[in-house]
Amino acid sequence: MSSRPAVFFDRDGVINRRIVGGYVRSPEEFELLPGFGDLLQLVRSRNCLAVVITNQQGVGKRLMSLADLTRVHAHLRSLPPAAFDGLYSCTSLASTPDNARKPSPHMLHLAMRRWNVDPAVSWMIGDSATDIEAGRAAGLRTIGVHMHDAGTRPPDHQAANLSEVYDILAARLG
Ligand SMILES: [Mg+2]
Repeated sequence: MSSRPAVFFDRDGVINRRIVGGYVRSPEEFELLPGFGDLLQLVRSRNCLAVVITNQQGVGKRLMSLADLTRVHAHLRSLPPAAFDGLYSCTSLASTPDNARKPSPHMLHLAMRRWNVDPAVSWMIGDSATDIEAGRAAGLRTIGVHMHDAGTRPPDHQAANLSEVYDILAARLG
């Protein structure tokens, strides 16, 4: 089987509005960001896999239940543009040893093995340094959008909004 291109999306701050200092605990709190539907359609039209890779330690902190997260993700997957191939969440606390949270590339590696993804033609899109670090560790090209913190190394591309992400990918996806 030949390897495939993929675009990996962080969730909060990339797909939906990030709740600063909190968590999206219900479908009512889930607000899709403008331009995301167009971006996902572009990715699909270029025959790339689209996979969500998200840290959700609000579950580990018991601020929400796993059932709440499942409802939010069922809602996400029911939205008209949201044809994702996969969705990986890590609900562990950051303080848990050996957790799968980004910046660990663990969830990316799982998805890449499952679909035989070629990292050289694949991308990680995130709004935090941990997303960029995880993507880089998995050998992906990286795009930072709505970045709310700075890592030691900047992403390969910086975008102010999702329409800039669209332009970056439109010029580079096969
Ligand atoms: Mg985020």
